Amino acid sequence: MTGTVDRRLVLLGATGSIGAQALDVLTRYPQLARLHGLAVGGSRPELVAAQVLAHRPEHLVVSDPERAEAVEAAVHAACRDAAQAPPRLETGQDAVIALAGALGEGDVVLNAITGSVGLLPTLAALASGARLALANKESLVVGGHLVTDAAAPGQILPVDSEHTAIAQALAGVRHEHIEHLVVTASGGPFRGRSREQLAAVTPEQALAHPTWSMGRVITTNSATLVNKALEVIEACFQFDLPEERVEVVVHPQSIVHSMVTLVDGSTIAQASPPDMRHAIGWALAHPEKLPGLAAALDFRTAQSWTFEPVDEETFDAIALARAAHREGGGAMAVYNAVNEEAVDAFFTGDLDFLGITGLIRAVLEHPGRPRAERAGGVEALLAVEAWARSAAQALLTAPER
Ligand code: NAD
Ligand code: MG
Repeated sequence: MTGTVDRRLVLLGATGSIGAQALDVLTRYPQLARLHGLAVGGSRPELVAAQVLAHRPEHLVVSDPERAEAVEAAVHAACRDAAQAPPRLETGQDAVIALAGALGEGDVVLNAITGSVGLLPTLAALASGARLALANKESLVVGGHLVTDAAAPGQILPVDSEHTAIAQALAGVRHEHIEHLVVTASGGPFRGRSREQLAAVTPEQALAHPTWSMGRVITTNSATLVNKALEVIEACFQFDLPEERVEVVVHPQSIVHSMVTLVDGSTIAQASPPDMRHAIGWALAHPEKLPGLAAALDFRTAQSWTFEPVDEETFDAIALARAAHREGGGAMAVYNAVNEEAVDAFFTGDLDFLGITGLIRAVLEHPGRPRAERAGGVEALLAVEAWARSAAQALLTAPER
């Protein structure tokens, strides 16, 4: 890429796994964009200060007002020592949404927030006309058509290794030539275990992912296969296909990041060593390529790649998500919201591992579950979400548990 850097970047979730790797990419390829603003939750003040010093954003938002003071103190101290002007600091969720919508055409917003709290920033970024590099899969899963209707063709570039792979495999492929997508799954740390063996697994065991180093929620979701379930739905919306045309296959080496099978029987795969900087750099630079972005596969050493079916009976997360997606009407918002509550409860010891998808199933089967009509917009969806969270909490604290 050449030319002056007049393209701006807003990075939401800067201190997370994806956010920090995105700043690595930006350090190595400064021609990609100028950092306009950062949004963080606020749990890592020293890291925010280091990021501000290195990248000099004009704006900094801390979503959690209770953490803003500590972040401000760290950032101001660092900027004073470096004789650098501090960024303008704002706090609260509305400020995150405003920052997400602050840019425009030709600019890029990377949404790397965890959870459905990323939905409103996603909608704000889409409305602004900026490119949306989307790691926050929850906003697409929960928002569904609300998000795809708000997006111009090509405006969303997925930052999720599977979807980034599919987007690359689909380059030059017409939509009617797609037979189905094949999303690969590492299988997580508990691949091959029975339900009996899963009953007693601990949060520490769930956090030991075999191939990827990621945030706590997505790592737990990888162990339950909820992450793969969310990714099936993400693929449906990102590539406009029904769920029955999105297959999942276990590929423990995490080298083939996903595939597309065409109507003529050909399958196109994207392969590279597991490194999220590939997906991040792809989405930021597209349609350019960043030379040397990540290591390539080395076929001078012997290797074998294996593929096997998913054990859907042991891991029921995918079947539950498929059913919720077929139903529509906010059922996926319920699925995701209950999962977020369940993951928290798993870490506090209030729910065992199998209880995570058990709770999702129980709330989805709740006779009083409300539906969100498409015409109701984002408010209807958020109301369904709020209902799901309180239904999940009610079940978690019910005396018979
Ligand atoms: P993480 O937990 O490591 O980081 C989340 C970031 O969001 C942190 O900087 C946190 O401070 C910030 N944050 C939290 N609440 C916020 C809010 N309300 N407003 C602004 N910032 C807020 O998570 P992660 O692993 O980097 O994942 C981020 C997203 O990317 C998730 O949706 C995840 O599913 C997706 N993703 C991650 C990976 C990966 O390798 N980590 C791969 C594919 C997709
Ligand atoms: Mg993924």
